[in-house]
Amino acid sequence: MPLLMLQCEKCDRIFSSGIMMEPGASATFVNNKTQCPFCHSMENIPDGTFRATVEGFINVLGQTDDPLKIATELFEALQKAKTLEDISNLKKLENFSKFKKWLPDSPEKIAAYIVIISTLIQLLTKSSSVQIDYNTFVNQYNQAINIEVNNK
Ligand SMILES: [Zn+2]
Repeated sequence: MPLLMLQCEKCDRIFSSGIMMEPGASATFVNNKTQCPFCHSMENIPDGTFRATVEGFINVLGQTDDPLKIATELFEALQKAKTLEDISNLKKLENFSKFKKWLPDSPEKIAAYIVIISTLIQLLTKSSSVQIDYNTFVNQYNQAINIEVNNK
């Protein structure tokens, strides 16, 4: 089981969420925050259970005609979103209303969702199948945040 890695917003370092994903289990994050071991900053992580969010996106994408196209549109829309109003407007759009339950409820969380969606786009680009296994997702997600840091 891969460990979910997180990137600290403050010092940019990568650290382990300390959460081992057991088969069939969902990781619950206390108050949606976890502490960076390097600078001790409290970092926001996606709402509720990370796994539920990821699987929620995969599930909704699987019901669309063109998952890669929808994921790319959602990625671009989230990159432009800055305020709570932007997010609620986004949830009203026909293409994205299906994702409503899985979209962030505060602007601070947008960055984390952008990483989730960009990871899904990378997986969808590699294989046209939307049958994405959660472990495959975590491995790709960990790589994605590592690449992001190395390019800075
Ligand atoms: Zn830090």
